[in-house]
Amino acid sequence: MVAKALSSIKEALPAGVELVAVSKFHPVDRLMEAYNAGQRIFAESRPQELAAKVPQMPSDVRWHFIGHLQTNKLKLVLPYVELVQSVDSLHLLEAINAWGMANNKVTDVLLELHLGAEETKQGFTAEEILSVVSWAGTAQLKNIRIRGLMGMATNTDNMEVVERDFERIERLFLELQAVNPQITELSIGMSGDWPVAVRHHATMVRIGTDIFGPREY
Ligand SMILES: *Cc1c(COP(=O)(O)O)cnc(C)c1O
Repeated sequence: MVAKALSSIKEALPAGVELVAVSKFHPVDRLMEAYNAGQRIFAESRPQELAAKVPQMPSDVRWHFIGHLQTNKLKLVLPYVELVQSVDSLHLLEAINAWGMANNKVTDVLLELHLGAEETKQGFTAEEILSVVSWAGTAQLKNIRIRGLMGMATNTDNMEVVERDFERIERLFLELQAVNPQITELSIGMSGDWPVAVRHHATMVRIGTDIFGPREY
């Protein structure tokens, strides 16, 4: 089932849009089904779960982190991931840079834009992102590369609201990309809304449920 779901999503994705398989809460044998069908990029949202899965999966898996990351958990995440998609504060950005200096690693990150209405949702405002990007440039965070933006649309069935959210992040992405050639990635779109995201410049979609089925909490 996993293989079939993967291939139908891949067929629908335009060339150049990377499929990130969101494997949080799924056991390793399910991840291996996706791996055996050719999937290589997997994303997790909890540090302990990521650190436990890494040694159980083949070494050519490319791990992304997409959850809220506390600075005391960096060592469970940063050694293993090629991209932290969910940087949601300046404090975290500086801590990732400091960890990288101490451990001789440059970490690629996306800045998370707060989209939608939910109060609990993490992330920067658009104004904050504009200032963080220019500040990070002048502060010379040598162990960080800001590669783009990540966003989650409002949790609603109303596709007009989702569309508006994606338009907002797309606009900011294009604005940043015009001034900073290092910014190439826009991570938007999940199981319910990825077809909308690909119409708004998504370069990565993060899909869990449509690949693996409902999560086993
Ligand atoms: C869980 C999660 C996803 C995937 O959600 P699905 O609805 O299962 O596709 C995508 N992005 C983030 C940030 C997540 O936490």
